[in-house]
Amino acid sequence: MFGLIGHSTSLEEARAKARSLGYEEYADGDLDMWCSAPPQMVETIAVTSRTGQSIQGAYIDSVFVPEMLRRFKTAKRKVLKAMELAQKLNIDITALGGFTSIIFEDMNLLREERVSAVQLDWKRFTTGNTHTAWVICQQVLQNAPKLGIDLASARVAVVGASGDIGSAVCRWLQRQGVAELLLVARRPQPLIELQQRLGEGRILSLEKALPEADVVVWVASLPQSLQIDTASLRSPCLMIDGGYPKNLDSKAAGEGVHVLKGGIVEFWQDIGWQMMEVAEMAKPQRQMFACFAEAMLLDFEGIHTNFSWGRNNISLEAMDRIGEASIRHGFQSLGLESLPGLEAQPALATA
Ligand code: NDP
Repeated sequence: MFGLIGHSTSLEEARAKARSLGYEEYADGDLDMWCSAPPQMVETIAVTSRTGQSIQGAYIDSVFVPEMLRRFKTAKRKVLKAMELAQKLNIDITALGGFTSIIFEDMNLLREERVSAVQLDWKRFTTGNTHTAWVICQQVLQNAPKLGIDLASARVAVVGASGDIGSAVCRWLQRQGVAELLLVARRPQPLIELQQRLGEGRILSLEKALPEADVVVWVASLPQSLQIDTASLRSPCLMIDGGYPKNLDSKAAGEGVHVLKGGIVEFWQDIGWQMMEVAEMAKPQRQMFACFAEAMLLDFEGIHTNFSWGRNNISLEAMDRIGEASIRHGFQSLGLESLPGLEAQPALATA
């Protein structure tokens, strides 16, 4: 059995969801009430692979909302309690979605093995980052040529390059072969270490990297205040918005600049669930975050262990393995073809 731990995108949206599910006391509750509310298992799901294999899963709402991010103790408790519930439900492998994996890593919750009387078994959880990184790489590979960008001669900026997903994307793109990797993050030291491990890549500030990049992979949570000078961007430019929340459309999309929601996959058939309706997916019955799909894939494959765990541990072999499973079981990376009026174009040399 697989599990998915998620949350609503705002208190307002959480209240609306509670009302639609018949939880009236939650629908009327204020932030303090939501802070003290326990996690809820809101949905059970049956998923059938393209191979014909069926598995069962459960969606657990952590009852966390982003308005709680500054309430550190609350945020921490929400994630740990949701994990405790997943374990009590005896779910074999559960993905931490949205802010829950960020909170887990940033607050170093690995130190918090015990919740109430329950000893958390880390092997039952995955961040889903290996599949997310693989999907983002596929999105680069498949969509750059549609815009006439030849990857072999393209500069690819990775914003969040020193992070778990970003460093894996850099390693994969290096193996694939791109003209140059532009490495962007706030702290220089982890970038220098990444550059040394890669043996290549140029470290740049965001402002300097963007005008040089044919492709930009965003794998960092961006502050709402971030401004992008769209006039300075290259045309064509492919932007993969892999961060959470996905807020690049409004900041960067423009003439010749194509923003694609990163780390999103589409299943081969409708699933018949409610949970993705609130995640603003174009096709909520079959589209989902790649990290959630990783839990399904691990269950399909009988890999009941923390496949993605900790930071900067993602190997190319693990990416290849989860990628093969992803294709076999019927997942497809979200592509630009869903944008109206986009014709395939011949690849141009760009560097
Ligand atoms: P990490 O914390 O491991 O890495 C974050 C990276 O972003 C670091 O390199 C960090 O470096 C950099 N960073 C953070 N803030 C900024 C900023 N303002 N400007 C530039 N760089 C910044 O996170 P993960 O790799 O685990 O996740 C990356 C993103 O992907 C997250 O937003 C996460 O929510 C999202 N994600 C999306 C999924 C999906 O859509 N399917 C699934 C899983 C994760 P530094 O601190 O030095 O700046």
